Amino acid sequence: MAPPSIKLNSGYDMPQVGFGLWKVDNATCADTVYNAVKAGYRLFDGACDYGNEKECGVGIARAIRDGLVKREELFIVSKLWQTFHEKDKVEPICRRQLADWQVEYFDLFLIHFPVALEYVDPATRYPPGWFYDGQGEVRWSKATNQETWGAMESLVDAGLARSIGVSNYEAQGLYDMLKYARIRPATLQIELHPYLQQNNLVRLAKAEGIAVTAYSSFGPTGFIELDMDRAKNVTPLMQHEAIAAMAAKHSKTPAQILLRWATQRGLAVIPKTSRPGVMEQNLESTDFDLDQADLDRIAKMDLNLRFNQPTNYFSSDKLW
Ligand code: NAD
Repeated sequence: MAPPSIKLNSGYDMPQVGFGLWKVDNATCADTVYNAVKAGYRLFDGACDYGNEKECGVGIARAIRDGLVKREELFIVSKLWQTFHEKDKVEPICRRQLADWQVEYFDLFLIHFPVALEYVDPATRYPPGWFYDGQGEVRWSKATNQETWGAMESLVDAGLARSIGVSNYEAQGLYDMLKYARIRPATLQIELHPYLQQNNLVRLAKAEGIAVTAYSSFGPTGFIELDMDRAKNVTPLMQHEAIAAMAAKHSKTPAQILLRWATQRGLAVIPKTSRPGVMEQNLESTDFDLDQADLDRIAKMDLNLRFNQPTNYFSSDKLW
């Protein structure tokens, strides 16, 4: 069964459950994407920074060639990396990313983080990552978020992106951009799980007609593989006794409980797994409802605990 979809303010429909592509390694990425299409996924959440867009494109092209899916049935999401925030850098890099994916347009293109870094020529290093020298030097760019958003709007005008949005914005950034946006952001993609529930930000986005996509729905699990202390030092959500009890009660897996908690709130989710079987399990997580007691119990689990923090990536004092 196809997951429900969310109507975006751009008029397009976005599948509510998609497939996340961060940390999908290059060697297996094309097959993983192909298998995910086969499992029924239609939304793929990629990014320049994930370093696997070419392989994603190979998997998608093979799935289309084999007749598993048509381009127009897919919803391909990618993101603008911070070193390309200056207005003359946005379209060229978007065109390169489209070529990597072997598609003519993105269904959704997001500003990955509202933090501009100095330009690094893709011929020097691609993806460029956080560090100007590829080692540890952070160099800021003077590009403002307003300048970058104007260039994102031009991508829509040029037919390169059907919808545009933002990621990792907080309330202040959203309020600010709503003053100058000619095209309002269609989505806001943020870290969101029971340990970081973000209720005020979700309320704000909803009030402004911006759809919210929750990433890292399993909380610490996706960050333990990065050897992050703050993820290792907290109970994994899938093993939390409250989540485990709900899974038993509903005859679902803990992962499905976590995903349903988000989709029942009207959010989209983009779980990542390379394991066939588990892929299907995550996709098939919208056919039941948590009850009020479950929702009340999860509401008590909020720790305001964020794992994906830019400072974690370039701090020398090893915040994680
Ligand atoms: P996630 O929350 O999807 O967790 C991934 C981990 O959970 C993996 O270790 C996987 O093996 C495991 N897992 C997945 N399904 C499972 C299941 N059913 N049972 C048991 N274990 C399971 O982690 P994530 O990768 O951090 O986030 C998902 C996606 O969100 C990313 O791939 C990416 O597309 C997006 N994302 C975006 C940003 C951003 O800055 N915009 C940041 C992080 C992630």
